[in-house]
Amino acid sequence: MDTSALFKISYGLYVVGVKTENGLGGCIVDAVGQVAANDNPHIMLACMKTSYTHECIQKTGECTLSVLAADTNPFVIANFGFQSGRDTEKWANVPHTMKDGLPFLNNACAYFRLRVVNSLESHTHTMFICEVSDAENGKNPAKPLIYNEYQVTMKAAANEAFQKFKENGEPPKNLTKWRCPLCGYIYEGEIPFEELPDTWRCPLCGVGKELFEKSA
Ligand code: FE
Repeated sequence: MDTSALFKISYGLYVVGVKTENGLGGCIVDAVGQVAANDNPHIMLACMKTSYTHECIQKTGECTLSVLAADTNPFVIANFGFQSGRDTEKWANVPHTMKDGLPFLNNACAYFRLRVVNSLESHTHTMFICEVSDAENGKNPAKPLIYNEYQVTMKAAANEAFQKFKENGEPPKNLTKWRCPLCGYIYEGEIPFEELPDTWRCPLCGVGKELFEKSA
């Protein structure tokens, strides 16, 4: 059996945010799907049973989901995916916003708040069925990151970013700001863009990347 075939199932990458006993926790998940839309949307989220995040979701019955964008800094994935929340304050390393007591990533393309209403266990994972109690589109106009894109183009960079983090003992400080001269919108992304992506559009006035300028 070639399990890399699983990389070709189309889904995204998400950061889960939870309350822990002493603060905040979270992890990276890929197995997320919409169960129902309509007027009472539900989302399915599968989480590894051995993870601290799993324990916290079970205890608190709630979490957030930040939908990672295609321009996510690989460090964000390393931060939430390559270490345990039992001994690391993961959210302290990334730009985030608190809403009603739970965190979400500033650079996410969308955010959901979920309340667990049911669950189903497999040998390694619990599938949480959740009611969506809040949903917002993020400021980031980039497309959602597709899991296969991560496997092909970002995994090595995530490993490298994690290596540097372990060596330096601190997260990358690289908040490059880009300013729209027409409307004044400032993008404070997590990546030190030398060039904004070709698909970049000002989320407020819609102009393309060619007009954006670096801002101190
Ligand atoms: Fe603009």
